Order: sequence, then structure tokens, then C-alpha cells
Amino acid sequence: MRIYISVDMEGLSGVVSWSQVEVQGGEDYRRSCRLLAAEVNAAAGGALAAGATAILVNDAHNHMRNLWSEALLPRVQLISGSAKGLGMMEGISPAFQAAFFLGYHARAGSPGILAHTYNETILSCRVNGQEMGETGLNALVAGYYGVPVALLSGDNVVAVEAKGLLGNPEIVVVKEARGSQAARCLVPSLAREKIKAAAGRAVKNATNYKPLKPPRPAVLEVEFKEAGQAEMACLIPGSRRRGPRVVVFEHNDYLKVYRAFRAMARLAKDSP
Ligand SMILES: [Zn+2]
Repeated sequence: MRIYISVDMEGLSGVVSWSQVEVQGGEDYRRSCRLLAAEVNAAAGGALAAGATAILVNDAHNHMRNLWSEALLPRVQLISGSAKGLGMMEGISPAFQAAFFLGYHARAGSPGILAHTYNETILSCRVNGQEMGETGLNALVAGYYGVPVALLSGDNVVAVEAKGLLGNPEIVVVKEARGSQAARCLVPSLAREKIKAAAGRAVKNATNYKPLKPPRPAVLEVEFKEAGQAEMACLIPGSRRRGPRVVVFEHNDYLKVYRAFRAMARLAKDSP
């Protein structure tokens, strides 16, 4: 059994502030890199012990060079760096039986720790009317390839978001939000124990999880903070404005929608 892992940073146990997930944070950031590798190894170790035969990890945070390959278990393969065609989901394919989302955070506008959706320009995002953050948008990419999300770790807010979208994956709540940059955290060693155990259960029950299938057509609506950001996002061929701050993109092929979304988010950051 082959397991795909997409790993972000804001949802790690012990991480509560932006300085801890940005390179400029210095020692704060480097500590988060160590926590990141340890959570990945806990999940990979649990999956391998339960019978997984291959683990592919995609570093999915910011510049995507937060994981140091020398810190990982020898049977783990790592996709490091950016830019990548599928971004946070680079490397996913029908060859995998389950996907794990580790260190994930809640969507923009929610009360989660470091809650956002891709970047600070985006207020909210919907696919066929359903509010989604990175968890939903990325789960649809896995679902496109028939791969279910079997495990997610993060705070208590993304846990609720994931349950609403994904049904019954294994969920490990490693911290409880006390504010947008404050949390009551499990100590990392306990978080790892829970992630390892949940990864084992996820592998054993892999046939029970359902992929989140993309709708056809998939209608994406992105609400930006500023009209100028929507203007830039609307440079994507095939997109259209709905009101001053909302851009819509529709396609039968969800991968095209996902790419359009990522391009919009990037363009919006270049708003004059
Ligand atoms: Zn991130």
C-alpha cells in the first residue's frame, strides 16, 4: 500500500505564530522545521508498521523547502521545493491508496490558528457553493485521482472543517485555538504518539474511506479582500467577475480549476 502525505506547517503542535512558520523567524522557524520532520516521521512510521510499502511526502508550506530529507526515515521519499505543477498536491496519482494531510490549518475567516486560504488576499472560496479552505481544495485533487484523505492533523477548527467535508478520516487534534495566534497545545511527543497510532489505523482501514470526488462542472468562486486583487485574478482566461471583489471560474476538469485558483491567488498578490 502506497501512502501520499501533503504536509503544511501552521497546524503543527507547538506552532502558534507567523514568525514560527516563516524563514525570517530564525530559530523559531528552525524549531518548527524539526517539529515538522518529527510529525512526518511519526505518520510514516505508523503507516509503515501497519503495512504501508511506500511513503511519498510533499512539502506543501510556503517555499516548500521546510523539510530536511536527512531528518526523515529512510523509506520516505520527499518532494521538496517549488514551483510545482500541483503545488500542495504535487506527486499525487492513482498509485496511492490513501492521502494524509499533516500540519493543516483552518480556512480564511475561521477562528482557527493562523487561519487562511493560500494567502492574505483571499477572504473566502467556494466550490459549487461549498465553502472550502486548503483542506477541501486539496482533497478534491486527491479525489480527482480516486485517493481518499484518510488522516488529517491540525487544530480543533480545521478538524471540524475536515469532518464536514471528508466524512470520517482519522483526525488528530494537536492544539485547541485560544485566538488566531494562541493555542493550548499537546506537547509534541504526545502529538506524535497520536499521529503514529492514527496513521496505523488509517492504513488498516484504508478501504473504508471515500475520495472527495470533484463535481462536474466545478464552479469556483473566490472572494478577495480588495477590488484590485480581483482585477488581477480576472486576468486568468475563462474567469469572470461577479461583483467588484469576486471572481468565478468554471470547468469540467477540476485540475484546471485548481490551477486557475492557484494562479489567481498568485496574481492577486501582485495587485498594484
Ligand atoms: Zn502553510
